[in-house]
Amino acid sequence: MAQVEINKQARLSEHLTSSSVATLGNLSELNCTRLSPHFTLGEMCKTSARTPDGNIPSHVHIENLKRLCGWLEMLRSEWNKRYGEGDAPIIINSGYRSQAVNKMVGGALNSNHLTGCAVDIHVTGMEQLVRYATILLDISDLNNEDFDELLLERSPRGTYWLHFAVKPSGNRCKIRLIQT
Ligand SMILES: [Zn+2]
Repeated sequence: MAQVEINKQARLSEHLTSSSVATLGNLSELNCTRLSPHFTLGEMCKTSARTPDGNIPSHVHIENLKRLCGWLEMLRSEWNKRYGEGDAPIIINSGYRSQAVNKMVGGALNSNHLTGCAVDIHVTGMEQLVRYATILLDISDLNNEDFDELLLERSPRGTYWLHFAVKPSGNRCKIRLIQT
């Protein structure tokens, strides 16, 4: 992480839920910082791709991630209400991706992950995939709020995940079944 050089002095505390005085120069503190009651910045930026830039979002990207976390909190709460599992977590496979990380993982050139507007949500199988998607559609209807993408994805190895994106504006409510 010593190679990180960008915007080290940028104060992000006003974008975060805790009273942290985190700056981009203090990554370990940022990782533990909550964007919402159940989701941390670290979860939203984790990646297995090791890039020199450290995969650090800007304050604009963090604002986008916070918007997504609002939806994820509603998904978590509604999932637990409907399926009675009490406090089951929503597991994020991938959220924000820097250009370098996105390139390394083979992401789309204009991916919503690049701006912190998308997450890939882990699911145990097709059933949970469809249920998560249904809940997110219900949340959209109930709150009269648009999302940008709701993509039910399946890899060649048969792994499912849900790609969900919300942008600050211009949301398209695009729903697709995608076989990669
Ligand atoms: Zn995705």
